[in-house]
Amino acid sequence: MFLPLTLDEAKKRGWNSIDIILVTGDAYIDHPSFGTAVIGRVLEKAGYTVGIIAMPNFMDPSSIEVMGRPNLFFGITSGNIDSMLARFTAFKKIRNDDPYVPGGMGGVKPSNAIITYCNLIKQRFKDVPIVIGGIEASMRRLVHYDFIQNKLRRSILVDSRADILVYGMGESQTVEIANRLSGGQSMEGISGTVTIARNKPLNAFLLPSEKDAMESNEALVTMYKQFYQNFQSKLIVQESGGRYIVHYPPPQISQHQLDSYYEVPYTRKPHPVYTRAIPAYTMIQYSINAHRGCAGGCSFCTLTLHQGKRIVSRSRDSIKQEITAIAAKKTIHITDIGGPSANMYGMECSIGGCNRESCVFPALCKHLKINTREWIDLMDEALTLPNVKKVSVGSGIRYDLFMWSKDCLRELSHFITHFVSGQLKVAPEHIDSTVLRAMRKVPLYPLAEFVKAFNHECKRQAKEYYIVPYLMTCQPGSTDSSVYRMRSEIEAIFGYVPYQCQAFIPLPMTLSSIQYYTGSDPLTGEMFFVEKNAKARRKQHGILMRR
Ligand code: SF4
Repeated sequence: MFLPLTLDEAKKRGWNSIDIILVTGDAYIDHPSFGTAVIGRVLEKAGYTVGIIAMPNFMDPSSIEVMGRPNLFFGITSGNIDSMLARFTAFKKIRNDDPYVPGGMGGVKPSNAIITYCNLIKQRFKDVPIVIGGIEASMRRLVHYDFIQNKLRRSILVDSRADILVYGMGESQTVEIANRLSGGQSMEGISGTVTIARNKPLNAFLLPSEKDAMESNEALVTMYKQFYQNFQSKLIVQESGGRYIVHYPPPQISQHQLDSYYEVPYTRKPHPVYTRAIPAYTMIQYSINAHRGCAGGCSFCTLTLHQGKRIVSRSRDSIKQEITAIAAKKTIHITDIGGPSANMYGMECSIGGCNRESCVFPALCKHLKINTREWIDLMDEALTLPNVKKVSVGSGIRYDLFMWSKDCLRELSHFITHFVSGQLKVAPEHIDSTVLRAMRKVPLYPLAEFVKAFNHECKRQAKEYYIVPYLMTCQPGSTDSSVYRMRSEIEAIFGYVPYQCQAFIPLPMTLSSIQYYTGSDPLTGEMFFVEKNAKARRKQHGILMRR
């Protein structure tokens, strides 16, 4: 049974009131790849009644009243992606599409969705606590650069006037908040949250103030250096208009906890109220999340701050149970078993962690246990389950880590035989050493050698598979001439230039966003050329895109 979208649906479940109302900019898709469903189901399992307001009409305040007043709190998210990214392209044009809504048409969610939804709630339910979360809240939790608006902004906790911000994936925090509010307790001190305090907490690491960071590039760069180097283990504080933003370290979830988030009764479908297809669901319905976290620490990516670099993998039993349930009634092709980088499943730190921002940059850390066999074994087992006709890896692999595994050529051969479906995605992003240094992504194995090994094995197995490289232009450090070089090198390695590539968008709170805004890498102090001119960005992107 779906979580209710209306009070009538809630009554049919025998619920006379709703403890928590989740508001999201996306459609409600009851599937573990969509954050609102996960948070709703986990809260339900913890004993709370949960309703969902999906895609409220942001021009109509009454759209926020359809579920009435919640007993405990409103939980607000923009949806699976930041609303500014959902609304605008890399060249700041309004998007026509939005894969997270029925019909896939743009314009359903507002810019700055969290702030907009919070304002609607404040108009109608002034005294109800508001919890903000999801990727938009997570990546705007302190002073950050907003590329679309081309300005620095304060923490979204201040601008939204919410009571608490949950960063990261959010399950344990949200349940803890519900427990505290139902017991009449304070929400201070919860791992993985940000709050505002009148007084500076004791023993906290003090960042440069919000005012200093917004007025001085030097203070902004210092703030980011200190934040990235300390947020994983320390209580961090930033002064903001006479109050203090308090950032608690992230929770350390266990495999058992992670398994439990997938063992709740998702229907794995969009709510039946929707009559048109939702593109994101069509793409993801048969994919399996196997782990969280990314050891990479690339400067342009949100994962370091959102999920963290520690990899937490689900147990094989939990994943097999999920696949068995999906395949109970029909034959299926599992289109992915992975996470941020599929082959990071099962990788872990042998000493339990450290404050480094990346386990693979500037060089591979000797404590990172690379265990490709464990991931391959998992997929082998999935393939033996009833009604599973194929397992493939749609999300892509970190090819250089793959080649660091023991017996990598044997693993590659097995992988191609069973788990590639036409094409394999890899993400070199760029080939220029300066750009790669800015990206904090130095390949640990030569790309050309990997492609050669892949093609050789495909030929041996008489398979017409090919590799699709993800590439990016306009990154800090990237120039017209480095993109010309990338084009010819990629053509030489792959025999073609891909039709699609990404123009860099500085995402809030990433290291790249600070490089873009200030020209300086907060962690090394290295200065990079940054192409900011809109016309010149288009020209640079066009070098790779032209046919
Ligand atoms: S010790 Fe090495 S593997 Fe462990 S968290 Fe630190 S960088 Fe990563």
